[in-house]
Amino acid sequence: MKKNVLITWWLGYIGSHAVVEFEKNWYKTVIVDNLSNSSIEALIWIEKILGYKPDFFEVDIRDKNKLEEIFKKYNFDWVIHFAWLKAVWESCLKPLDYHDNNILWSIRLFELMDKYNVKNIIFSSSATVYKEKFVDKNFNWYTENDLTWDCTNPYWTTKFILEQILRDLSIHLKFRVMNLRYFNPIWAHTSWYIWEDPNWIPNNLLPYIMKVAIWELPYLNIFWNDYSTIDWTWVRDYIDVNDLIEWHIKAFQYIEKNNIDLWFFNIYNLWTWKWVSVLEILKTTEKVIWKEIPYKFVWRRDWDLAEVYCNREKAYKELWFKTKISLEESLRNSWKFYNNNK
Ligand code: NAD
Ligand code: UDP
Repeated sequence: MKKNVLITWWLGYIGSHAVVEFEKNWYKTVIVDNLSNSSIEALIWIEKILGYKPDFFEVDIRDKNKLEEIFKKYNFDWVIHFAWLKAVWESCLKPLDYHDNNILWSIRLFELMDKYNVKNIIFSSSATVYKEKFVDKNFNWYTENDLTWDCTNPYWTTKFILEQILRDLSIHLKFRVMNLRYFNPIWAHTSWYIWEDPNWIPNNLLPYIMKVAIWELPYLNIFWNDYSTIDWTWVRDYIDVNDLIEWHIKAFQYIEKNNIDLWFFNIYNLWTWKWVSVLEILKTTEKVIWKEIPYKFVWRRDWDLAEVYCNREKAYKELWFKTKISLEESLRNSWKFYNNNK
């Protein structure tokens, strides 16, 4: 007998991994997605992994009537909110669309949650809500409680605003909120059936590198090299998507185990505590896949921050989880996937 019923937006990259892992851990999931940035094919792969098809509705979150039908049909306990417009460059071109979509459609969802007394939510936030360089001169890493502002692009601003809205809902409408700030999620499910599969030229670094490695793209554009970092390229923390999802399950179990029935707003940084530069990622990939990856230094992206990393003590101590998959292993798995599917 499955436990809680969750509703989630899943046919995307992180959501599809979440559904598989939550189902394997005996949670029933109901999936809603408008397929704007995902493909129905993912459902077939999910079925292959699980041996059955989870309930799926092709619905736009903005269609409140249809969404309400789904809320009426199921007795939800939780919402995991992955649906988002997430292309940073596009958010700079269409800031109003991003605010309209990401903020307003979330509010419609929260109205339904309140109406049907579904007060538990995991929200996919992002490390992008932090300011530049998250370490001070004494190497005191910035924590979840440090202030965030000065977002350099509308995608980031929408995450920041939604966090504030959820905080209000926790205080005034008694929502219980797990606000997870991801660093840079990478690679594919260990089954190799589901993966990050952008329909167009990837925006993110790692799918781009793999597409160069399989000769689909001629070379990697590295967005300039004059940042004050170890080798003048940006530094990030890359977390394997399988570890990331396990952290969601821990977050979920934290509330269940601790029998928390009061309002609650908890933020966790989810990351590996290993930071690497763009050039280091490139060189590590070359070493793991035994192949040279051509690259060029090109223009700067206006919104890029030189270094993005901070403290993970809180997640580690409270959720009891340490990431297990090394960068090399993630790269190897990904290469097996891309190489087999090219
Ligand atoms: P994704 O684009 O692969 O998945 C989002 C899903 O939401 C897609 O399947 C899309 O079709 C669906 N969707 C979008 N608008 C919708 C709408 N109006 N109605 C119904 N469905 C809709 O993105 P992802 O990488 O899986 O990211 C999931 C979440 O994690 C997002 O909130 C993203 O901002 C956050 N996040 C991602 C990263 C990353 O690097 N991938 C990093 C930090 C945070
Ligand atoms: N990057 C790059 N070339 C690319 C894509 C990304 O040099 O084609 C760099 C980018 O400037 C950033 C890092 O790789 O410093 C990670 O970028 P990504 O877009 O994957 O994640 P972000 O941290 O920007 O959300």
